[in-house]
Amino acid sequence: MYNITLIPGDGIGPEVTMAARKIIDATGIDVKWEIVNAGANVYEKKGVLVPDEVYTSIEKNKVVLKGPITTPIGCGFRSINVLLRKKYDLFANIRPVKKIKGIDTPFENINLTIFRENTEGLYSGIEKKETEGAAQAIKVITKKASLRIIKEAFDYAKENSKKKVAVVHKANIMKLTDGLFLECAREVSKEYPDIELQEVIVDNMCMQLVMNPEKYEVIVTTNLYGDILSDLCAGLVGGLGLVPGANIGKGIAVFEAVHGSAPDIAGKNIANPTAVILSGAMMLNYLGEKEKSDLIIDAVQRTIEEGKYITKDLGGISTTSEMTKAIIEKISKK
Ligand code: NAD
Repeated sequence: MYNITLIPGDGIGPEVTMAARKIIDATGIDVKWEIVNAGANVYEKKGVLVPDEVYTSIEKNKVVLKGPITTPIGCGFRSINVLLRKKYDLFANIRPVKKIKGIDTPFENINLTIFRENTEGLYSGIEKKETEGAAQAIKVITKKASLRIIKEAFDYAKENSKKKVAVVHKANIMKLTDGLFLECAREVSKEYPDIELQEVIVDNMCMQLVMNPEKYEVIVTTNLYGDILSDLCAGLVGGLGLVPGANIGKGIAVFEAVHGSAPDIAGKNIANPTAVILSGAMMLNYLGEKEKSDLIIDAVQRTIEEGKYITKDLGGISTTSEMTKAIIEKISKK
């Protein structure tokens, strides 16, 4: 039996995490879900963003399925996502972006995985207002954090027979910070002679991805670029409703979709549950349950390819619950 912490989150979070939970349960795997919540909803009720029980549950169970959490812009509200990633040193944010059959996109063979450094860069939280008219943010790049995310990307490439890893940077302008990240990539790549290191400047990468995404297999980059490129890549395969993710540290792992809490469609039962369901499949794979993970991926792919029960963002008319039910039926028939 697995003990897993479930954080429903804000906005569409409760709807899509509930769908993922039902689907994981439908595979027959024995999971004891411990539901604890954090975020804007909790803040309104309890006056605290992350109640202690959330930390206790994460530290006990060590594996988390998490819904998106709202971070209001501009006010003194810290991002809980950034906080959890830093607190538990979840240094590797891994986001596989894959073409799903049945979704009409300009490219046929997109299959790449983004490794985003998750603990520093411009998300270090060091910002200050100099005067009324000037503010500063500090970008932190360390050799330790850079080497470990880059190694993670190369190890993944090696284990999955990938031939190339692209390091995305802006070292031409940010010579010390991005320069260090690039140097680390060159250093690590020497240990993997069979894998080509592609060095790509971030602005060029944006253009390359919208014109030739099939050229890339693994992308490793710093925090902000990784955040932006993930949404860009989600757009290439059909939108944010489809791309899963994992935040992995040493011993603790949090699985969540790339997308946010989507307040514009929250509470309407129309959100696409695929990204969180596939994050759940990544979680099962992490737990060593590859067969169950593949079962979920296959059921999701067949449901989308069939096109009968898909949500509005994919061109369908089904609700979140109808799509979830269709996926469960496919799992049960296997
Ligand atoms: P968003 O990802 O929530 O939404 C962007 C657009 O994509 C919206 O039009 C939304 O309707 C659509 N969308 C997103 N997920 C979808 C789904 N599953 N099905 C169908 N359509 C979907 O981004 P945003 O609007 O910039 O952010 C909203 C809030 O979410 C902000 O407070 C932000 O900080 C937070 N956020 C949280 C996380 C996280 O918890 N990991 C990640 C990103 C953003």
